[in-house]
Amino acid sequence: MCLVNCLFLLLVKPILMTDFPKSPYCKSYYKRERFETSEVSIGQVKLGGKEPIRVQSMTTVDTMDTKGSVEESIRMIDAGCEIVRLTAPSKKEAFNLQVIKSELVSKGYNTPLVADIHFTPNAAEIAADYVEKVRVNPGNYADKKKFEELTYTDDSYTKELIRIEEKFTPLVLKCKANTVAIRVGTNHGSLSDRILSRYGDTPMGMVESAMEFLRICVKNNFHNVVLSMKASNTIVMVQAYRLLVATMKDNNMNFPLHLGVTEAGDGEDGRIKSAVGIGALLEDGIGDTIRVSLTEKPEAEIPVAKKLIEKFESYSNDFFINPTNNNVPYSPYNFSKRESKEIKGIGGHSPPIVFSDLSTENNIKPAHLYGFGYNYSIPLDKWNISDAAADIVYIGNKTIDFEIPGTLKVLVDFEHWHENLINRDGYFPLLSQNELSKINNTDVFFVKHQAGEDKITQYINHPNAILILDSSRSNKTHLFRSVYQEMEELGLSNPVILKDQPLTDDSETFQLWASSSLGSILIDGFGDGVWLSGNHPIKLINSTSFGILQATRLRISKTEYISCPSCGRTLFDLQETTAKIRNKTAHLKGLKIGIMGCIVNGPGEMADADYGYVGTGPGKIHLYKEKTVVRKNVSEEDAVEALIDLIRENGDWAEPKTS
Ligand code: SF4
Repeated sequence: MCLVNCLFLLLVKPILMTDFPKSPYCKSYYKRERFETSEVSIGQVKLGGKEPIRVQSMTTVDTMDTKGSVEESIRMIDAGCEIVRLTAPSKKEAFNLQVIKSELVSKGYNTPLVADIHFTPNAAEIAADYVEKVRVNPGNYADKKKFEELTYTDDSYTKELIRIEEKFTPLVLKCKANTVAIRVGTNHGSLSDRILSRYGDTPMGMVESAMEFLRICVKNNFHNVVLSMKASNTIVMVQAYRLLVATMKDNNMNFPLHLGVTEAGDGEDGRIKSAVGIGALLEDGIGDTIRVSLTEKPEAEIPVAKKLIEKFESYSNDFFINPTNNNVPYSPYNFSKRESKEIKGIGGHSPPIVFSDLSTENNIKPAHLYGFGYNYSIPLDKWNISDAAADIVYIGNKTIDFEIPGTLKVLVDFEHWHENLINRDGYFPLLSQNELSKINNTDVFFVKHQAGEDKITQYINHPNAILILDSSRSNKTHLFRSVYQEMEELGLSNPVILKDQPLTDDSETFQLWASSSLGSILIDGFGDGVWLSGNHPIKLINSTSFGILQATRLRISKTEYISCPSCGRTLFDLQETTAKIRNKTAHLKGLKIGIMGCIVNGPGEMADADYGYVGTGPGKIHLYKEKTVVRKNVSEEDAVEALIDLIRENGDWAEPKTS
């Protein structure tokens, strides 16, 4: 390593924990403007700049299975996948990418391929001869991770950086010569020991991890680079991307971004979690390509990603409030919930509440409550209340003529309340704006507030008003944010309920759009409850509301599965195993179980999970208690039961309820 190179690394100061970037991560917090990135070519596909947001995914079969890889790639491409990634754990898979590529081309499929690399620079350099992009994980590209807590002096840290540069530069030069792109794909679960020693597994550490590799690209005048900052925790993921954008701006960089929530899981949970994380960033104009990682067939991810992107195709800043300054009353890089006043168990330190709506039912019966978590047992003559039971039901001007569960509050239109229900416990009025003058200043009431249109100042004299914040505009996130700022400026601490009614008849689109709009603002720390409505089954609306709160970790109502989408490295059937584990543990509310096909992201993501099930070899599973391996090489047949035993031994087991 020559002296000039050493000086370069020393002069480009690494980010310190306390150094938040000076630049804001977006042009305006109150208007959606796409972050202007440079354009990068991935073979025939361009991304970044003014290009549309690209959709990509990854194959799940072994890369040595040429036929299976080609067939799966074709299914993905036919579904609309624009970039296909395949794992290349060693040289032989990297060489086989050439065979897969030519098979695809011979069938008329020219979609660019990406080699996914962990640990093996030699495989990366081979793959760069055959594919259009190489993804490297800066946490393990040149590192044999020891999964130990190591201490680095300034000197040993610098030596490590020099070593990394020596390992990574040949790939950069090869990609430059071959016009191949590189994705520096940081993953929260697999940061290097070096980064962990200085930054911990923080968003700042994730950014510095990418920047170490990015500086080497820039130094070699190589700019065909895409970046990503994936995590299974949506808050960490959003903060990391925001920090990365701001850090790039501070350094006059604008590389395009690939977005994804890793190990999001499957089904509704996986969709909601992905939409919360990816959507929160797209709402702010960040993101040039996305992957919705699901523990499902890879082609199933594509329509989900497209539906999520569709939200932003019709987006317009059609009602723009110019706030007094372009600041926000919170840190976009540190989650902290807005301090609101607690009124009747709403706001303050209470978990966000969930609304349900029966206002269109003409004859409300006990069975209607089943859709939102209440089940009346006739033999026991009592209500069974699920962990995902809504807290308030809106009935408009209807009546309920049976005894409802004691925990359920009822919201009714003001006139109806005033005439019939004013003295009834648990019943609250919902006012429109022009009814405000009819209520006492000290009364507890809910009021509809259209963000950007109604005046916030009117609540100065109504300290017990709970706002139902709504907007029919597509730039809802920014309008809600402006209400947050205005309330802080006026010192108003009234609780705020976020309302949304995505205009779509498609249930999946409804879930994705609601998760994006509400998730984004909840991650900013704003909101004491959610109210979703739409022409969809009550059960789906209710599970979406609870799903969004679970995905933002604001209210835990079920077990969380941090399961990887699987890839060619996977050592067991992810979908089947996830289903088996879910079947046994779905009643363990609040427990987080990591299910990883291989060790790549294992220990890191275990930091976020209570228990882990990780493939370590054919038919062999390691079980984790948090970050520690506690059972090694358990045979796959026994591993699910061994996991249950482990949960039991640690006192986290409960027998499933029989109702
Ligand atoms: S954790 Fe899962 S998706 Fe990630 S590399 Fe391992 S098997 Fe593949």
